[in-house]
This record gives sequence, C-alpha cells and structure tokens, in this order.
Amino acid sequence: MRYILCLLTVISLTSCKLQKNMPEFAKNVVVAHRGAWKAQNLPENSIAALKQAIALKCTGSEFDVQMTVDDVLVVNHDDIYEGMSIAETSYDDLAVHKLSNGEKLPTLREYILAGLDNNTSTRLVCEIKPAKTKERGQKMAEKTIELVKELNAEAMTVYISFEYEILKKIEELNPKAQTQYLEANKSPEELKADGIDGADYHFKVFKKHPEWIESAKKIGIALNAWTVNDPVDMDWLLEEGFDYITTNEPELLLEKTGKP
Ligand code: MG
Repeated sequence: MRYILCLLTVISLTSCKLQKNMPEFAKNVVVAHRGAWKAQNLPENSIAALKQAIALKCTGSEFDVQMTVDDVLVVNHDDIYEGMSIAETSYDDLAVHKLSNGEKLPTLREYILAGLDNNTSTRLVCEIKPAKTKERGQKMAEKTIELVKELNAEAMTVYISFEYEILKKIEELNPKAQTQYLEANKSPEELKADGIDGADYHFKVFKKHPEWIESAKKIGIALNAWTVNDPVDMDWLLEEGFDYITTNEPELLLEKTGKP
C-alpha cells in the first residue's frame, strides 16, 4: 500500500511538472526586440534582458544567434564581438570579454535554459543570422534545432531569419516548428507554399503592401512587424490586428495593449 502511495505521488508530481512546462503564452502581441533592455539599461541580447522580458510577461523575447569558428552557437546581434569576427574566433577567445553588465557572452544553450526557467508565457524568438556560405547557414539551422530539441524547448521557440534557406531547413527538420521570415521579398502565399508560418517584416513594408495583411489573415500566416518604437506606428499595427509587434519599447506597448 505504501509502495502504491509513493508511486502515485511520483506520478502526480511528474504530471504537475509536465503541465508546468506547457506554454501558456501571454495574451498580448509584444515581442521584446533583443530582450527588454532599454528601460533597464541592460545589454541587448543579454540573459538579463531576456529575464526582464519574461518578468514583463511579453508574449515573446527576440534574440540573435551567431556561430563561432569552433561551432558554438552564441547570442549576439553583430557578427563582430569586441572587434573579433565571431565566425572566425573560438568561443573561449570571445568569452574573455564580458558584456557591460558583467555577464559572459551567452551561449545559445545558456540562453535557452534561462528562457525555460520559470517561464511559460514568453516565447523564445530565435533569429538565426545569415552566414557567409549556404552550407554554414544550414549547419547553424541544424545545430539550433538539435539544441532546442535536446533542451525540450520546441513548444516555446519561434525561429526567424532573413535567410530563407535557413527557415526551409528548419521546416524540413521539424515541420511543426514555428518559422517567420524577415526579408520582405515574399508574399504570404509564397510563404505558405513553402511551409513558412509567418511574415515578420519591417512595418513600412505593410504600408506599401496592405494587401499582404489581408491575405496573411485569410490563409493563416502570422503577422509580425519590426522594429516598432513609435506610438503612432504601434497604434496602426494594433488596429490592423497584428499577431505580434516587435519593439525596443515593450513597456510602452504593454501599456497600450493592457497587461496580461
Ligand atoms: Mg534580431
């Protein structure tokens, strides 16, 4: 009897844990661009900025992925870090230099783990940066999706890229992955045909192509716009019913949309 009780306790604790990890995304449209760094004066793409976006309950927090010469995926916007080309430098050599808040240059593994910690509301919006060659881009896509799978972060992750072939590789490896394209040279219909899930374009593109807003909604392509910092532009995109708005001012946009 005692054994059965113990077993039942273990089972219920396990299912609690599983449920705890199920995403319940915040019901707002706010994606913090490179994390919520600005208001707190944090470094962009730092784990502290990600944690702040999670604390604000943004529906997403965006970050940029590069790969070192020894194939370590790291989170940094530019392809140069402290004067060194990330693609041509080892992680150890790069990591000698800390971020301005004292954090070390985050690896993607550390970043995702931080994003899974005590978070079911904020999507991890993972931008895979274009590489110098197609092969290297494909390798970055493969390594990223492998890591996301290993860390059990698949349900929390949205992949974005300016490099179409990177997104196509992600979809090939996991057709259930959420992908959004950043370079505004494809119509929603073209994205749909290639299995891409969203159009994440510069907001001015949607002013030029209002028909894309309508067709995206019709065929189920997610709408996201970057990088929207002006309240007037925010209002317009909210009126247009965008699914996501990527911004350096998440606090302001959350104020407009009502906190979750
Ligand atoms: Mg980015």
